Amino acid sequence: MLAFADKTYDTDVVVGAGASGVTAALQAAELGAKVVIIEKLPSLGGGTICSGLTVVGSDQQNKYGFHQFTDKSYVFKKIMDYNHYAGVAPIVSKFINESNNSYEWLKKHNVKFDPIFLYTYLEDPAWHPLTGHCAGMLKSLIEEFKKYNITALTETPGKSLIIKNGKVAGVIAESEEDGKVTINAKSVIIATGGYGGNPDMVKKYAPFKGFSVNKGSKFRVGDGINMALSAGADTHNIGLMQWHDPMPKTDIGRATRSGFNEPFFWVNKEGKRFMDETYRMLWAYSGNASLNQPDGVVIKLLDAATVKHITDNGGALYGVHDLKPNNDFNKSVEMDVQGNKVVKANSIKELVQKLNKNYGFNMDEATLQATIKQINDSYANHEDSQFFKNRQYLREFKTAPYYALVTYPAFLGSVGGIKVDENAAALDANNKPVPGLFVVGLDSGGMLYGDTYNIVSAGQTLGWAVNSGRFAAIKAVDEMKK
Ligand SMILES: Cc1cc2nc3c(=O)[nH]c(=O)nc-3n(C[C@H](O)[C@H](O)[C@H](O)COP(=O)(O)OP(=O)(O)OC[C@H]3O[C@@H](n4cnc5c(N)ncnc54)[C@H](O)[C@@H]3O)c2cc1C
Repeated sequence: MLAFADKTYDTDVVVGAGASGVTAALQAAELGAKVVIIEKLPSLGGGTICSGLTVVGSDQQNKYGFHQFTDKSYVFKKIMDYNHYAGVAPIVSKFINESNNSYEWLKKHNVKFDPIFLYTYLEDPAWHPLTGHCAGMLKSLIEEFKKYNITALTETPGKSLIIKNGKVAGVIAESEEDGKVTINAKSVIIATGGYGGNPDMVKKYAPFKGFSVNKGSKFRVGDGINMALSAGADTHNIGLMQWHDPMPKTDIGRATRSGFNEPFFWVNKEGKRFMDETYRMLWAYSGNASLNQPDGVVIKLLDAATVKHITDNGGALYGVHDLKPNNDFNKSVEMDVQGNKVVKANSIKELVQKLNKNYGFNMDEATLQATIKQINDSYANHEDSQFFKNRQYLREFKTAPYYALVTYPAFLGSVGGIKVDENAAALDANNKPVPGLFVVGLDSGGMLYGDTYNIVSAGQTLGWAVNSGRFAAIKAVDEMKK
């Protein structure tokens, strides 16, 4: 039997040591707070995956001539147009106005950035790539913890909030070493990364009720959101997810994934085309389009000539998963055919039969044949009269064997969660602050958006994590000093 000596701390507390929590802890400590940060995983920042954040008005944007993106009024209007004013304007405004201060603050704490580049021609020059991705940023920030005597407790999940006289007054956590850990605190900043790893919460809150693939962390299970709800906080836009390119149910070769993501020929399980495939570059858009299909199923099709074309010439789109010329896409596809992850057929009839048999679809061969005729006519006429795809991405689908990758709606995490104000203070149903409680990062990310997170001025989820972490810390310390 194990016996634990329970432990108590008197301090300010941050729950969750990912992008937003680490930022909040360092900012609060820098301003003089005594900080305890608790993390449920074995290492601080260990579960965070990301690469860059939104900044408006940076030295880089000036240096590389992206002057429009140094104009806050232009960017504010652009972002509010994107969200149709469903994003909360004062919060979007503060986010834009403070983004460069946060970027400079990160640099002051030894965080390094790579030069800005655009993944796609559809994107704004807003995304600032971190050297070494988020791991690089977190390593630098965590190094700074020593300077400010921040107490960091790993493998110590926060379990519930302490509430005294109607005010949040700390956190009860648990650790194998210390048993029950009581942290009495003047304020609590919740930063647990949303609920994307909790299938029950995804089912409850996300509007799409079919099967979907979680490509984010399985450890973000909504703990912080549930703690905030139990303290009387309200939700805002809680069903918003970071929808991504539709993905297969099982892992496939990296080259297979990249090649099938080329913008050539996607159909739904009825065999009908449903979008301009180039919009997969803005993956939130292809994610949305997949949600509108029966059961969310998207079948990515390639013929032998296009497999060879991609292998010889590389990808048509540059991006995160691009393929260089003379790559091993063809080999990767054949391996995944062997593993029953990609369907291969010598005729359209056989392709439909295999899809129906292996995946339980009820596709009509004549429907797929009609769609293939449409795509081949578009190629011949240099015009996609249905979805108006840029003609350089039109290709024929004529040469056997044919290949199909069956995919489903996929997300990187949840975005929406708790309702907060401009300081990331949790709000109740009457828009009144829940005393002592702040909620940051993906636990409150829905404030910036309408029905789709912003993939055009990209990096806003990490941008919100860093900025909201700082906003909460600054306000918490300010209140503490009163
Ligand atoms: C593949 C991929 C690529 C991405 N790229 C980008 C990008 O380039 N730009 C961008 O803006 N966004 C990107 N994102 C999203 C990015 O991951 C989030 O924006 C960011 O991590 C949010 O920070 P956070 O602090 O809210 O959550 P996290 O960074 O996930 O931190 C939450 C932390 O809380 C801990 N935790 C959970 N529950 C508890 C508990 N009960 N007690 C204590 N600790 C707990 C978790 O273990 C975790 O360490 C990407 C996501 C994925 C999956």
